[in-house]
Amino acid sequence: MPSDPVLRLRGRFVREMLPGSFVERQRQCGKPTCRCQDGRHLHTQYQLSVLSEGQRKTYNVPADQAEEVRRRVELHRRFQRVATRIANLNLGRWLREKQPAGKRS
Ligand SMILES: [Zn+2]
Repeated sequence: MPSDPVLRLRGRFVREMLPGSFVERQRQCGKPTCRCQDGRHLHTQYQLSVLSEGQRKTYNVPADQAEEVRRRVELHRRFQRVATRIANLNLGRWLREKQPAGKRS
């Protein structure tokens, strides 16, 4: 993997990342005869929770896609961390450049 964070932003990250957070919940289904009614054998439910323009939207994730979606949400988190790091490097460069030579503080 390239060490330059800008190069790492390309490719996989951009094409695959998903926004929001991955949620794993335990729940009862409501069927009176289901084994989950004992409160211990609960069903696992996976969701993708996305905040978009002030609205939180929740999407159910099929169990067989759970690990894939979890991974793709984590890609977005890493993308954001790298983008923040680049922006901070840019801030440092801009601060150095805006000072006239010899008057740097
Ligand atoms: Zn059930």
